[in-house]
Amino acid sequence: MKITLLTGKTFDIQAALNMDIKIIKSPKAKRLTLRIDAKERLPILTIPSRCSAKRAVEFVEMHRAWLEENLQKIPAIKHFENGEKISLMGKEYIINHCPQKRCGVMIEEDNIIVSGSKEFLHRRICDFIKKKAQEQLLKKSQTLANKIGCHVNHVSIKDTKSRWGSCSSLENINYNWRICMAPKYVINYLVAHEVSHLLHQDHSREFWQCVKKLCPDAAKGRLWLKNYGKELYRYE
Ligand SMILES: [Zn+2]
Repeated sequence: MKITLLTGKTFDIQAALNMDIKIIKSPKAKRLTLRIDAKERLPILTIPSRCSAKRAVEFVEMHRAWLEENLQKIPAIKHFENGEKISLMGKEYIINHCPQKRCGVMIEEDNIIVSGSKEFLHRRICDFIKKKAQEQLLKKSQTLANKIGCHVNHVSIKDTKSRWGSCSSLENINYNWRICMAPKYVINYLVAHEVSHLLHQDHSREFWQCVKKLCPDAAKGRLWLKNYGKELYRYE
């Protein structure tokens, strides 16, 4: 991207840096800032309007080592592939791509059979998991809610990169679709957590007692999410 300088000339910062970088020229920015967009795997440089291009280039050069180090740390994006083993609601399956079939996505014993062209394989499995998530997490939430005399209005499946679940005061629960690929005790913990919010909107002692009552393995499930949850976030 070329930016227009105060002098009216244009200057190509990316070319000067020989780097893939997104440049945002912001009249509101007070200073140069550099951050990394993990999803895009791209550095983002914000330039205040009164900053020279030379200064901007120097600024990025100064942080080049930091950028490279941290870009490398971003876990690679994963796409579902033929032959891959995945866990779905606590059961192991093998992805079996059968391009000639006309079944969409279906479960056959230990296989998740996916028809159609290879380029749609990943998307089809994502959609399939989201549908399963909607059905089964709704059922699980209702069962646990009944145990504590509560009611679940609606369960939605979300695609956020930052939360596993949430519960609103209107008795609606949201879950991240990727949770379906976690071990069963982890799914149970998350459902117990969100359902307990129907009674307690905070993370008080009473809240955690309720979680434990609904899911005795809660601590183990919570620890798993903390340690391995990011692996599941690799699926886009
Ligand atoms: Zn919570």
